[in-house]
Amino acid sequence: MATNSAPKIAAPDSPLRLLPKVELHCHVEGTARVQTVAELAAHHGIDIGVADPADLYEYESLADFLAAFGTVCSVLLEPNDFHRLAYEAAEDGAKAGITYREMFFSPGFHLDRGVPFETMWQGLVAGVAEGEADFGVRTRLILDIDKPKGLGPAMGLLEVARGLDRDLLIGIGGDSTERGLDHRMFAPLMAEAKNIGLKTCFHCGEDGPADNIRHMVEAGIDRIDHGTRLLEDPELTKRVVDEQIPLTNCPTSNVELSIVDTLADHPFAAQRDAGVLVTLNSDDPAFFQFDLADEYERVSAAFGLDHAAMMSIRDAAITASWLDDSDKAALRSDFAS
Ligand SMILES: [Zn+2]
Repeated sequence: MATNSAPKIAAPDSPLRLLPKVELHCHVEGTARVQTVAELAAHHGIDIGVADPADLYEYESLADFLAAFGTVCSVLLEPNDFHRLAYEAAEDGAKAGITYREMFFSPGFHLDRGVPFETMWQGLVAGVAEGEADFGVRTRLILDIDKPKGLGPAMGLLEVARGLDRDLLIGIGGDSTERGLDHRMFAPLMAEAKNIGLKTCFHCGEDGPADNIRHMVEAGIDRIDHGTRLLEDPELTKRVVDEQIPLTNCPTSNVELSIVDTLADHPFAAQRDAGVLVTLNSDDPAFFQFDLADEYERVSAAFGLDHAAMMSIRDAAITASWLDDSDKAALRSDFAS
């Protein structure tokens, strides 16, 4: 198995760690600390299949990763578990300089285990509120559907989303593998999400082709998660640039899951040079044993981007966020002070 490459390189006082940040692509389940997973497993009497909990976060492919993701989900059973998860996500996010985050949660994995939607929602709401009060990290949530389950279950979750607090739930996304999935099937989901006032994003062009990005752009997607393979389609790239459809890039995640070989091979800088509205994100920071500050350091080093360039990348995340214009202006003003 690959050993995660311990990319925790941003010192506590490094300028890029201290830089206030916005994060748009982070899964709350992917923030679960090893110790928390071990404690919840013990509490619930669940065997997580490894003698040393640290071994849980060792993998070399998206398939291995998704298996670990499932294990983490298996210990989240009660509102208090989700509360702790969201609270610790805020605590760890604050240490990376994050002050505003649009964060995914993935009900499909929990519903499969018989955990009611209300259980996770109740816990997440409480954890997000307490995390903001204690650590100053404002968090809004994106409901991620599990793409391989298909359109039917996704539309079912959208029905659940219809009644949730819109100050907290702001969008619908879709994660898990792209392999073998014709993303055109999700066009009705995008249309209905927009009908009920939710923003839309989808993981695409990660372990699947640029065609998946194109299909989601044609379905009117508001934001592309990953989009790693975008540049393989020049015509699509031009449209994404012209319409300034943001990408939530996660370069270290892509290296860790063998989507690209090294950071230097990642198209992040080339996409930016092409005029794509790129942003930097940690995806699943606990799983990769790093955080968003480390991601900034790593990308800065890999592509020779100076502090001013990293600040402009940070500012792009404000533009790409789903805050309204006055909130974006307030955040820019906060960051400038
Ligand atoms: Zn993701």
